[in-house]
Amino acid sequence: MRVVVAGGAGFLGSHLTDALLERGDEVVVVDDFVTGSPDNVAHLSSHDGFELVEQDVTRPFEIDGPIDAVMNLASPASPKDYHQMPLETLAVGSTGTRNLLELALGADARFFMASTSEVYGDPHVHPQTESYWGNVNPIGERSMYDEAKRFSEALTFAYHRTCSLPVRVVRIFNTYGPRMQVDDGRVVSNFIVQGLRGEPLTIYGDGSQTRSFCYVEDEVRGFLALLDSDVVGPVNIGNPGEFTMLELAEIVTELTGSDAGIVFEPLPADDPKQRRPDITIATEQLGWAPEVDLRTGLERTIPYFAGVLGDVVG
Ligand code: NAD
Ligand code: UDP
Repeated sequence: MRVVVAGGAGFLGSHLTDALLERGDEVVVVDDFVTGSPDNVAHLSSHDGFELVEQDVTRPFEIDGPIDAVMNLASPASPKDYHQMPLETLAVGSTGTRNLLELALGADARFFMASTSEVYGDPHVHPQTESYWGNVNPIGERSMYDEAKRFSEALTFAYHRTCSLPVRVVRIFNTYGPRMQVDDGRVVSNFIVQGLRGEPLTIYGDGSQTRSFCYVEDEVRGFLALLDSDVVGPVNIGNPGEFTMLELAEIVTELTGSDAGIVFEPLPADDPKQRRPDITIATEQLGWAPEVDLRTGLERTIPYFAGVLGDVVG
């Protein structure tokens, strides 16, 4: 297959690109590097099947040649990033998604939409099933991201219903691993970087809120299972292991050998209190389940950040 990966120079997109190339597909990464970096795909520059196009997908663009699949991962994803870029986040979720849907339609390709557990907002149903419609504040501090993704899903289903476009929609739950930016701002990278630097880990609120963390390799394996299937979705792909932020801080403190402790900072507005995927559909219809538990995934991720920080210091 020849696959266009929008957002392919980001954290998840670059791992997805690696996996597609590894199995023999060709990949065209389309990215404007607003939160990603060409460094994330620099190791692929001499690969015959790899092409990198610098492009903002909210602007008109064309890709020459046949395309079999368009995968839309383009969007700021860290709360820190989408708070700094609210208009860009809404634009990429609306105009950007529409441009990529048109690209898929014109090329007779299937379309893959990277949505998010944030469509469930601060959920009243726990764990979250795909049939739950969510509890999102439409004008709140996270609305530029949550509503952009909800709109992307609606747009994707409108193309599916009116144009018979083959689509796949994944709802991604908190994923972590190598190639997250040191200043990404999400909790796993923040805690690891703070632990390695000997700084106190910053817990927002009282640390009783929960998240379910998926290692990047498991997540990408789920993407490919969905892409290759006939399942339209939406499908939750995430690790159902659920941890409070206090528990996460404890594990990262131990694994980084930090002795700086923790500090409590204010909880951001509308921060979801709990999050855990119900993965029945992924398990039964895709034969997918995560394999890497949190401790193992952190043990694989910490050396990456130690290397980056070592380079920065050195
Ligand atoms: P990331 O910020 O590392 O990657 C996003 C990529 O999209 C970056 O390379 C960025 O430069 C690119 N991009 C943003 N706007 C663009 C535009 N207008 N045109 C072209 N490229 C653009 O984040 P990530 O964690 O790799 O997330 C990838 C996707 O997965 C996002 O759509 C995100 O919403 C979704 N997602 C991620 C998680 C997670 O835990 N990592 C959870 C839920 C959903
Ligand atoms: N969080 C925290 N300390 C940090 C960064 C985040 O306690 O340094 C909390 C945040 O308030 C949220 C959880 O960790 O409750 C996950 O935050 P993240 O930004 O990683 O993802 P999201 O909120 O989008 O799930």
